[in-house]
Amino acid sequence: MNVALPMFRETTGAVMVERASARLVRISLTDRCDMACVYCRPAERSAYLPAEERLTVAEWESVLRGLRAEGVRRVRITGGEPLLHRDVVEVVRRVAALDMDDLAMTTNASRLEALAAPLRAAGLQRLTVSIDSLDPARFASITRGGELPAVLAGLDAALAQGFEEVKTNTVVLRGINDDELPALVRWAWSLGVTPRFIEVMGVGEGGNIWRERLVSRDEMIATLGGLVVAGDGARDDDRGPARYLRAADGSGRRVGFITGSTDTYCAGCDRLRVTSDGTVRPCLATEEGVELTEEGKAGVPGAVAATLREAWEMKPDASWKGCTEVTARAVSMLKTGG
Ligand code: SAM
Repeated sequence: MNVALPMFRETTGAVMVERASARLVRISLTDRCDMACVYCRPAERSAYLPAEERLTVAEWESVLRGLRAEGVRRVRITGGEPLLHRDVVEVVRRVAALDMDDLAMTTNASRLEALAAPLRAAGLQRLTVSIDSLDPARFASITRGGELPAVLAGLDAALAQGFEEVKTNTVVLRGINDDELPALVRWAWSLGVTPRFIEVMGVGEGGNIWRERLVSRDEMIATLGGLVVAGDGARDDDRGPARYLRAADGSGRRVGFITGSTDTYCAGCDRLRVTSDGTVRPCLATEEGVELTEEGKAGVPGAVAATLREAWEMKPDASWKGCTEVTARAVSMLKTGG
């Protein structure tokens, strides 16, 4: 089934910010993942980077130190699945010691039950848990084998640790999980968690299904009925592209929307990505990037600056259509970090 694509909108002037340099980096700690979501990666679990090409813990520390010296203040650890990295807690501890303004992680939570406490103790501040369905069979089908009970146990463990903020990410897929939005909102709110809905993007495997499966933000809001006050919503300062609508009941609870397919948030984007093999990427929607030098990975003072500048200069201008660009399809979400 092919649905009519919603009109593409330019990001409004209200969210344009002066882009001087990178403030946020997303690091793909590992390209390995224990799930294979239908919109993210192929079913077969192969073609991972050889171990010797992945950055070591010491190299991550050096690179992050270098990035901080150049003005980066916010770090999100993602992947692949970051909790599969055997030294994830140590990486968090070392990044936390750099005194960033924000240290967050996006995870599928399959291993969070055991790791929530050590991660919190190591200095992780905020968590986003990806969860596309509350139905175990549907969850297993979307993730090609993911186990919902383990994810829910991980989320519970995280909530017990008092992270500064816990959010969920749900990629909304037409005819697959788009009937669950109100249930997901009520469930998340009941836990004190902020639910976020993501338009499926044509990145990686998403390139095969996004036109057929895309549910636009406007449709999502209609599906939510009276749960939220409709409108453009507002972004959190310095916190990525999601725009939040408030609950209609006046409780102050919110629902976030990430519109990588019907809108662009490229204008004002202050993010760079570092892949698990040490390439600095200007944008999720392109495989282009700049490899970190051996000096940068070894922590030679000032050595990361040139790489950072070069990658920053590769940032597309505001005419770039982000994840709807044809280059997006060739991107590996695992390697680049979603
Ligand atoms: N493994 C971790 C997880 O599941 O959260 C972190 C990596 S995953 C690539 C990060 C986020 O990207 C997840 O919330 C996932 O749903 C989202 N994602 C992956 N491919 C996507 C696509 N084609 N369109 C929209 N979101 C996507």
